[in-house]
Amino acid sequence: MIDLSKNEIWFITGSQHLYGMETLKKVAGHSEEIAKSFNADGKIPVTIVFKPVVKTSEEINNLCKEANNMDSCVGLLMWMHTFSPAKMWIAGLKALQKPFLHLHTQYNRDIPWNSIDMDFMNLNQSAHGGREFGFLASRMRLRRKVVVGHWQDGKVIQKVADWCRVANAVADSKKMKIARFGDNMRQVAVTEGNKVSAQITFGYEVNGFGVGDLVQYINATSEKQIDTLIQEYESTYVLAGPIKFDGSMRSSLRDAARIDLGMRAFLEEAGFHAFTDTFEDLYGMKQLPGIATQRLMASGYGFGAEGDWKTAALVRTMKVMGAGLDGGNSFMEDYTYHFDPDNMACLGSHMLEICPSIAKGDISCEIHPLGIGRKEDPIRLVFNAGGGDALNASIVDMGNRFRMLVNEVEAIDIENDMPKLPVARVLWNAKPDLQTAAAAWIYAGGAHHTCYSQNVTAESLEDFAELMNIEFLLINQKTDLYRFKQELRWNDATFT
Ligand code: MN
Repeated sequence: MIDLSKNEIWFITGSQHLYGMETLKKVAGHSEEIAKSFNADGKIPVTIVFKPVVKTSEEINNLCKEANNMDSCVGLLMWMHTFSPAKMWIAGLKALQKPFLHLHTQYNRDIPWNSIDMDFMNLNQSAHGGREFGFLASRMRLRRKVVVGHWQDGKVIQKVADWCRVANAVADSKKMKIARFGDNMRQVAVTEGNKVSAQITFGYEVNGFGVGDLVQYINATSEKQIDTLIQEYESTYVLAGPIKFDGSMRSSLRDAARIDLGMRAFLEEAGFHAFTDTFEDLYGMKQLPGIATQRLMASGYGFGAEGDWKTAALVRTMKVMGAGLDGGNSFMEDYTYHFDPDNMACLGSHMLEICPSIAKGDISCEIHPLGIGRKEDPIRLVFNAGGGDALNASIVDMGNRFRMLVNEVEAIDIENDMPKLPVARVLWNAKPDLQTAAAAWIYAGGAHHTCYSQNVTAESLEDFAELMNIEFLLINQKTDLYRFKQELRWNDATFT
């Protein structure tokens, strides 16, 4: 499972020597109090590390270089408590390779109307101190997040917490390793892309393996390991008749468990965080991995079907952002529409590989034939996802840039049984409505594969796109198709 708590975000406060020791002592005391308060807040997923107030360009430069070299530091929160002349920040910000959030806050929430004097004014001047820092960051064209408000305000804390998750996802992306078992599904365009560009942009590396390399791990699993894993299946899922202890297809469950163990061993041994496979290349495997892929996703691995490494990376990134939160993240595909004019909806699913982290209610473990791939019937987990706010996100390669596309949706609790549908499923209404959303998605070239999220916000994905310097497009309640098409044209001009 993904644990963000050991990663650090450094709390940096800017000031200058002009104010004298007494004021600087107060500044340091305030900063430490804010850092402590963030650290104690359950919403903040990382360790906030208070750093001494910086007052000179040497101190700033040294701190930025130290942050660069510290693997556990995934980002910085910067606050200009007083006025910190920003020329002293140029060298440090130029050297800084970690993401930063500009916290535009002030120690005092309210103006003390009766006692306010010039001492108070001088101590609480982030209103203009933050603007000086903002100018420099904009002048240097630095990508960052700006959060405004009092540091004890729940909404401000939530924004800081969300951004800490984004900073973790950026750090994770830079060291992410993606294994591809087999190549792209033949002739499919959107799952292709430039892996060199992706590594330069996102940091992750994508490496291909022959399926035989994986089959060796699958074949090396012991009967005892399989027995233990099947016990886990039995205690976690509702097993269908044919794969129960005395069922006629019990041996298929053992085959699936063997694949589950072999894939996990392969990925763990070489330190992979995400993977792809394809039903067209399963040489030496008895089934297309269904339950194995579903359980690996639930453990935090990214996944993309049919060789889709961009979506595998995105699923992993969103799993890092959502780590420890209620709800889940899954590989997804817009499968089929409900075009009832009064109640339009989209049914999302895949051949097998939906992550049980988004399940609501019982999860059943079943076996059914698969019409493609010419292999034995695969074992899969079947369940419904629950209703509520969610989104679909996709990354496509536009040739000269990567584009992230996000559509906010309202998931609907599934009331129809669909007894003949042997896969996990999600039902949603797209925002602003299915017709507008699907048209916008298609104009933007969004993929049929997505990552479906119940706990990552569009704002977090926008922040991620900002830090990765890629294009970001949002389809939500406010989307107007005419404006959206203009945005596409303008962005094309921006990115040439
Ligand atoms: Mn697919």
